[in-house]
Amino acid sequence: MKKTIFFTVLFSIINIHSNSQECIIPDATVVNLKSAGYTYTPGGATKYLRVFIHFVQKDDGTGNFNEVDDGLSPANAYNGYEFADYIINYANSLLAGNQAMRLQPFGNVPVYDPGYRYKLSGVFFWKNSSLYNYYYALSALMNNYGQCTNSVINIFMTSEQGLTGGYVRHIGDNAIILFKAYKNYIESVNNNNNWYNSGTAKLINHEAGHCLNLYHTMLTNSGKCSNSHDDFCDDTPTIQQMLDLSEPDPCCWNDTYCSNNLMDYNADQSSITPDQLNIIHDELDNDKINFLECNYENSNIDICDFGTESEAYIAESITVLNSCSSQSSVILNGQTIYLTANEVIFNPGFEVQTGGKLNVLINPVCN
Ligand SMILES: [Zn+2]
Repeated sequence: MKKTIFFTVLFSIINIHSNSQECIIPDATVVNLKSAGYTYTPGGATKYLRVFIHFVQKDDGTGNFNEVDDGLSPANAYNGYEFADYIINYANSLLAGNQAMRLQPFGNVPVYDPGYRYKLSGVFFWKNSSLYNYYYALSALMNNYGQCTNSVINIFMTSEQGLTGGYVRHIGDNAIILFKAYKNYIESVNNNNNWYNSGTAKLINHEAGHCLNLYHTMLTNSGKCSNSHDDFCDDTPTIQQMLDLSEPDPCCWNDTYCSNNLMDYNADQSSITPDQLNIIHDELDNDKINFLECNYENSNIDICDFGTESEAYIAESITVLNSCSSQSSVILNGQTIYLTANEVIFNPGFEVQTGGKLNVLINPVCN
């Protein structure tokens, strides 16, 4: 059985300004081009970074999206699968609409298509009141529910905890926790306005930026404005560099002089610079190369038992029940299995019970 999954490639064509800078006299005390200019080369094949969305509910299944509806009362027939699809598409469309940097004190900063998008590769639902209500839950969530952790960014949507919208545990992480996604969705329903979800889409892009080795451009890791904070990019000025030019402090939320960079805290969070793209693509080409669609950590997996929990498997080739001691395996009621591969071979003996879900994700582009 081979199932073909189609997907929409979002892309945009952005004019790249060739800017002459003959009149600018480099001032070595201000301009410190650590990377000696913009070395990111746009125009390569778009890279698709696999992501899973996990909805963490309370023990009784409330407090979040579920598999059939949005969990509100009265509930809307808009379930977690649909929201996961919607919010990842939203984040992708923001990437496609990469904005020009508002702060360009050293000359024109080119605007490139970021060259990467997310590939939603699985949606999961878990019941756990204590982790639902815990700010520092991310490591425990990964231990309990993380899937394919060398191949996918696992995104957990829990409840509203703390002041931040979410976090990663460290630069280069493979996991994200989001706190306000469900609250933002409720606001969108109550106000009949999808704009309330934009914060969630921006936050996914921001936290994924950390997963792809980006630092805040003007904030410490704990989120405090810091005049001389170094993000290892030359096209994202520090606060002090702006102050030295007699400009207002750009570490602010929403004004014409505030940063609009993805990696600051601001209302836009929609600009990624060439130097930032250098860092992102270096990570995608190396440590996270197996997180990209069509790339695999494992060449072959032979599944002998689907167990009892929802789970994902990713390999270039997946064989179900090939050389297993017991030639039977059952996907139970309430259990969801995702298989992502270039080919999947099913041998006799497996069964999907009523209420069980088997998703086979094969992208023909990879073959
Ligand atoms: Zn951050």
